[in-house]
Amino acid sequence: MQIEIDRIDSKGLVLDDKVALDENLLIEEEGSFLEDIDYSMYLSRENEKIRVKGNIHTVVSIPCVRCLEPFDFKIDSPFSITLLPGQAIELTSESLGQDDMDYSFYEGNSIDVAKILMEQVNLFIPIKPVCTPSCRGLCPHCGVNFNREHCQCESSHNEISYLFENIKR
Ligand SMILES: [Zn+2]
Ligand SMILES: [Zn+2]
Repeated sequence: MQIEIDRIDSKGLVLDDKVALDENLLIEEEGSFLEDIDYSMYLSRENEKIRVKGNIHTVVSIPCVRCLEPFDFKIDSPFSITLLPGQAIELTSESLGQDDMDYSFYEGNSIDVAKILMEQVNLFIPIKPVCTPSCRGLCPHCGVNFNREHCQCESSHNEISYLFENIKR
């Protein structure tokens, strides 16, 4: 998935494709792809600086941080990134404009589309993913999933603290 930067002429270059990426590169270790990456991108070049604007659509399975159950996380998002040659170590405010908030690097005379897509997918995955905002998580005592069942821990815990409160008085 290497694109020679010379292919990006003054009119720019449009890519529109579906691709399978290596799920071992997902930031979430237990994550997996449920769908191929469906993407489109428009590349434009200004000397060695390449701007990429695009859209990514895919679905990944990642575990919820509260209940630990894997859930489907849908990514359907636009993105915009600036690519600079790998040897551009010094980034001055002159070389980066206002639209260059997100940037990455390419090596040699070609850019790696799979790498760009993987970076974007990883950026879209939340740091603390939850299956639903109302996920009730697991009981810290017996580990039951509160989204599916109840346990006795909470009530017996309350009874104990109630008795304890009474003793203190
Ligand atoms: Zn959950
Ligand atoms: Zn419990």
